[in-house]
Amino acid sequence: MSILRAREVPLGGLRAMTVRRTLPNRERITIGAWCFVDHFGPDRVADTGGMSVAPHPHTGLQTVSWLFAGEVEHRDSVGSHQMIAPGQLNLMTAGSGISHSEVSNAKTDLLHGVQLWIALPDTDRFVAPFFEHVIPSSVRLADSTITVFVGDLAGVTSPAVVFTPLVGAEILMPAHTELTLDVRADFEHGVLIDSGVLEVNGERADGSDLLYCGVGASTLTLNTGDQPVRAVLLGGEPFREQVVMWWNFIGRTHDEVVAFREAWQHDVIEEARRDGPFGYVPSDDPAIAAPEMPRVRLRPRGQWKP
Ligand code: MN
Repeated sequence: MSILRAREVPLGGLRAMTVRRTLPNRERITIGAWCFVDHFGPDRVADTGGMSVAPHPHTGLQTVSWLFAGEVEHRDSVGSHQMIAPGQLNLMTAGSGISHSEVSNAKTDLLHGVQLWIALPDTDRFVAPFFEHVIPSSVRLADSTITVFVGDLAGVTSPAVVFTPLVGAEILMPAHTELTLDVRADFEHGVLIDSGVLEVNGERADGSDLLYCGVGASTLTLNTGDQPVRAVLLGGEPFREQVVMWWNFIGRTHDEVVAFREAWQHDVIEEARRDGPFGYVPSDDPAIAAPEMPRVRLRPRGQWKP
């Protein structure tokens, strides 16, 4: 077991909302194929401006939006237009390329949730982009509520389409409660603490920490103290590929990421082409230009050392 601490990162867009990022991290790049964990809020939208992320691209990954409070409006270049509310999953499979915008609803006064990325395996990373809106099922166990948004847990299966063995669930526990979950021993797991203090297999963590548990555990025992806890469980088979993650792209080589960037800049930022790989998203705000490439060549990274 180890604890991954969050660092604060301003999210892109005209008005920057600060998120707490625990993955990737200096110590760890992936948990299963989960490769990005951003935790935000509870933010009073009147103070922070809320979420306002103008159109931007993705490749080679899936984005998972999961809210605890508020509403976010999603639009993408495959024509999706979907509000997301707490208890609902927005899952966008970027595959060969997509663009999207995310804006908190004007009715939202409090915004609180997570945004996660899942790396696509090499065999599926060029699938045609698609979008799913899923209302996952919950189960009650030991006075706790478990909502399974990806994979299988506690007898519940999410219909969300993923490409590697994974699990993702929100867990709500009252104070002074013990919950034991059967989990796959071939999975590694992370438990992100949203609120309260939680012990996982005897290791204690709080606010925005991500508790990491390596492969081999067949149960996770969660214990709360004086406060109720909300946590997000993420797990999966260790992702045995090296990836190049840069800005909003996941590829396998430096040159591939350069090509993704050039297509975005040429087709969308310079408005040269609406039928390119990233398509078009209607938006009041201009699409977000990619930063300059670093002077050094990007190197593949991964938990797995070939
Ligand atoms: Mn995005």
